[in-house]
Amino acid sequence: MVTNIPPQRYASRAAVIGEDTRITRALPHRARRTVGAWCFLDHLGPVHFAPGKGMHVGAHPHIGLQTFTWMIEGEVVHRDSLGNEQVIRPGEVNLMTAGRGIAHTEDSLHDGATAHAAQLWIALPRSQARCEPAFAHYPDLPQVALGGFRAMLLAGEAFGLQAPAQVHTPLVGIDFSAAQAANATVALRPEFEYAVMVLRGSAQVAGEALAPGEWLYLAPGRAELALACDGAAQFLLLGGEPMEEGLIIWWNFVARTQAEIETALADWNAGRLAPPVRAGSSAERLTAPSLAGVQLRAGGRG
Ligand code: MN
Repeated sequence: MVTNIPPQRYASRAAVIGEDTRITRALPHRARRTVGAWCFLDHLGPVHFAPGKGMHVGAHPHIGLQTFTWMIEGEVVHRDSLGNEQVIRPGEVNLMTAGRGIAHTEDSLHDGATAHAAQLWIALPRSQARCEPAFAHYPDLPQVALGGFRAMLLAGEAFGLQAPAQVHTPLVGIDFSAAQAANATVALRPEFEYAVMVLRGSAQVAGEALAPGEWLYLAPGRAELALACDGAAQFLLLGGEPMEEGLIIWWNFVARTQAEIETALADWNAGRLAPPVRAGSSAERLTAPSLAGVQLRAGGRG
């Protein structure tokens, strides 16, 4: 059945990653923790680093999720505990599957350059939460032209195309960009919920004006979505089947019990969560914040 619950508008919040890189974070939001399996939506930049400065995020671990990096401008070097070293460039995706445990670093390839990216997390379903860690780089993504937009398929299926990224729940991610005014209607899957996050310029989504720093939530039940912009703009449409499982998201970990988080934390601090990250980052290994006395709460639906 198709319903049309009005879109809900949420504010992103400011946060800092690495040494001093300011980002805006759409998810998790206190009123909405997940959209499909998408459980973390960070928007970095566009930032113009001063000479000698860049993004440098020291070695840190993940469990229970996939990190999904979408590069818009600039170049970042990923190094991980599986021995991978990969430069990601504009138009490319890095997908790191943490499973039972992985660690990585992220560094600007050149300091004093511009960076613009989205870093998204996908919660792994219970059946895959402790899978073997893996890393994949996708330099070529399917794309279509649509009413003045370029639509790049980042994840899942749309427009009769399939994105190469290997994911473990039904979900979709599409980057829409336009150099000038554009207007399109795209088909949605009524069983999916969606988020729209603007990266550049402003857009009208389901009739709502949207700019960077805010995002729109669309409940399941929609069959299509009207998209428009009056000038240069770029935004992400992310969706998936609502995740019914209660997730605990703490620091860089996604789990279902506090005990899992405590074990991962102790393992990281003892140096046994993952092998050492491939050398090369200029940034220090990150120390997990203390969990002492903290009672973690499962989020689950909204
Ligand atoms: Mn990370």
